[in-house]
Amino acid sequence: MKFNLNDIIRPNILSLAPYQCARDEFEGVASIYLDANENPYDNGLNRYPDPYQAELKSHIGRIKGVDSHQIFLGNGSDEAIDLLYRIFCRPGRDNYISISPSYGMYDVCGKVNDIERREAVLTADFQIDVPQIQNLWDENTKLIFLCSPNNPTGNTLNREDIITLCRSFNGIVVVDEAYIDFATTPSFTNEINHYPNLVVLQTFSKAWGLAGIRLGMAMAAENIIALFNKVKYPYNVNVLTQQKALDTLIHQADTVNLQIAEIVKERDKMSERLRSIPHVERVYPTEANFILVKIKEASRCYLQLLDEGTVVRNRSKVILCDDCLRVTIGTPEENKKFIEQLLAILD
Ligand SMILES: *Cc1c(COP(=O)(O)O)cnc(C)c1O
Repeated sequence: MKFNLNDIIRPNILSLAPYQCARDEFEGVASIYLDANENPYDNGLNRYPDPYQAELKSHIGRIKGVDSHQIFLGNGSDEAIDLLYRIFCRPGRDNYISISPSYGMYDVCGKVNDIERREAVLTADFQIDVPQIQNLWDENTKLIFLCSPNNPTGNTLNREDIITLCRSFNGIVVVDEAYIDFATTPSFTNEINHYPNLVVLQTFSKAWGLAGIRLGMAMAAENIIALFNKVKYPYNVNVLTQQKALDTLIHQADTVNLQIAEIVKERDKMSERLRSIPHVERVYPTEANFILVKIKEASRCYLQLLDEGTVVRNRSKVILCDDCLRVTIGTPEENKKFIEQLLAILD
């Protein structure tokens, strides 16, 4: 298969001349800025942000081992998901494939953009069935959304299967790695130089502890990132978000790494603890910061936990997740309390 990016881009995007903002036209340093109709009185936020977030990208690139031009930053990874549809999928005509069960935003964004979904249900051990996916696609299939470690199941998808899809699919393979920092499995960011149709999504919302600043990233070949840049809002990542992310990357990386280690330790401890409870039918293996647990009368447990003031995610109506709760790993004190509450409920 010879992948040609231009063949799969929406024609209106291929021919689009992007909006030229003031900071596109002039990128250097000046002493007087009279080009963007800003208020000249400095309050720390009176200037527009860098539309391409150069400083932040150079730090992220160093950490991730990718070039700055292979990174898109957005208002959460959700922005990247939405842009993928808008770049590649013609509403009412094209389609995408996503796995079930998985993250809900692929399908919400697909619906918003009026793109047909083709569902690839995972196997009983939550892996992808490659021939099934290969049978689902046709010449109008533009995107395949994979998630590894997967939400809500917690497992990573088999690396070889993902590679097989990258090699055989004449569209974009998206690997959402929102939870990769909790996993021992290596990231696919190393593969973006080998597969011209691979897009890896990561986020500051989970391990980095910055869900509140809304910052997500897509990493891919430079020509794909150029398309993101062409379609995105000019100033999509605000000054405060860029500053906070930079500060965290530069000054808090050690703290974050300690937190990740603690969360992983707690996760493994909590998995063991849950496995020892008789009403718990299954504790699924996880490489994320949550655990999927199959438990008798999951919905009743969910409501009784709420009564105790603890909210988990009830996934018991989700395909392949009958009677399952998804429990995020909290602080050691929170986890201990959760187990105590659960034991009291099941008693
Ligand atoms: C939490 C999560 C995200 C994060 O989305 P943001 O918009 O970056 O907060 C992305 N993908 C998956 C699978 C998630 O669970």
